[in-house]
Amino acid sequence: MDESILVVNCGSSSLKLALFDRHLQKTVSALAEKLNRPDAVAHISGDQEPIQLPSGASHKKALHKLIQAFAKRKSFSGQPIAIGHRVVHGGETFREAALINPETISAIQDCAGLAPLHNPVNLAGIKAMRALFPAVPQIAVFDTAFHQTLPERAYRYALPERCYKNWGIRRYGFHGTSHYFMAQEAARLLGKTPATTSIISAHLGNGCSITAIKNGLSVDTSMGLTPLEGLVMGTRSGDVDPGLFDYLAGKGVSADEVHTMLNNESGLLGLSGQTNDMRTICELAEHGHAPSRLAVDVFCFRLARYIAAMTASLTHLDAIVFTGGIGENSPQIRSETIKHLHLMGLEIDPELNQHHGRLSDGRVNSADSRFPVLTIPTNEELVIAREAGRLASA
Ligand code: AMP
Repeated sequence: MDESILVVNCGSSSLKLALFDRHLQKTVSALAEKLNRPDAVAHISGDQEPIQLPSGASHKKALHKLIQAFAKRKSFSGQPIAIGHRVVHGGETFREAALINPETISAIQDCAGLAPLHNPVNLAGIKAMRALFPAVPQIAVFDTAFHQTLPERAYRYALPERCYKNWGIRRYGFHGTSHYFMAQEAARLLGKTPATTSIISAHLGNGCSITAIKNGLSVDTSMGLTPLEGLVMGTRSGDVDPGLFDYLAGKGVSADEVHTMLNNESGLLGLSGQTNDMRTICELAEHGHAPSRLAVDVFCFRLARYIAAMTASLTHLDAIVFTGGIGENSPQIRSETIKHLHLMGLEIDPELNQHHGRLSDGRVNSADSRFPVLTIPTNEELVIAREAGRLASA
């Protein structure tokens, strides 16, 4: 019997698959994009030719195609020992990963109102894989689960109690799998145990969030009821004054239009007026494009404010950790952010920063810095594979 573990990440218009061997090494990965569009296409790692998906392919059709292509690979005999699924919203029901059965599926369905764009597609992936592999244990790993240790003072909004009691309006937090991985990796790099390690973890990709982790547990985080709150992101605004809804309603802008603006037209894209891609924005700023320069400024300043705010939840700090496409790859963003925090005694080492910490176990701070600053590549798929393997064998 093959001992591979399959990891499935069904996004709103894309699908990622990864296959891990028994030593939790990734052997094959695949990405299907533009699902439900006529030009839907998929790529498998190591293959030259993309796989043409049927016109307007659904997640289900793309999964079938990719599994067939995986089956031709030597590393996959066709029966994984476990399948791990990324699920965005676990509400207050899921504090940790869960074996998928009819009760789990109905609980994920109950959380769908909180994540209407994500949970239904996550469920579509789960159902398709259960049909393909009825005998294989399947496990759901939730983006929100790691943040279920937030104390009430951090997760409650200052709203009437009925908002929380009747409608579940509270801060849930997201990117939990990545922040959890940061807590584990930072502890390892610092030669400590996760249970004694406290960090501030900044996940900076297309979505961005920051979490205070006290002795291994999430105690504050910047994303809230939805993944819109907090930091400046690729196309999401992050924090705004909720008064703008009313104000824009008075200008004839509908709730739907405000939703689209805040989620799809704001953040780096809104400020730069050009793109949501941070690398391009940094290049444009370098060439004197003023709106892109402003986008970098707002991004770094907001992030620095949040780093300082996260210290309110900690009694000691072992490291500030940067991850995600921007956090791992941009010396400029790390440096401009940390410059705002000189009162905290933080200082970057330009040489170590330029090499993304690869010369120094992730460390990019100078010897004089009051706290270590680390750069750690995130690996959410590995966490999902590990959890799936653990629960399947339990
Ligand atoms: P992710 O969602 O984690 O894949 O991150 C995507 C973001 O990382 C995009 O905004 C990319 O432009 C950004 N990124 C990747 N490499 C770099 C780089 N070298 N400098 C700045 N941003 C980068």
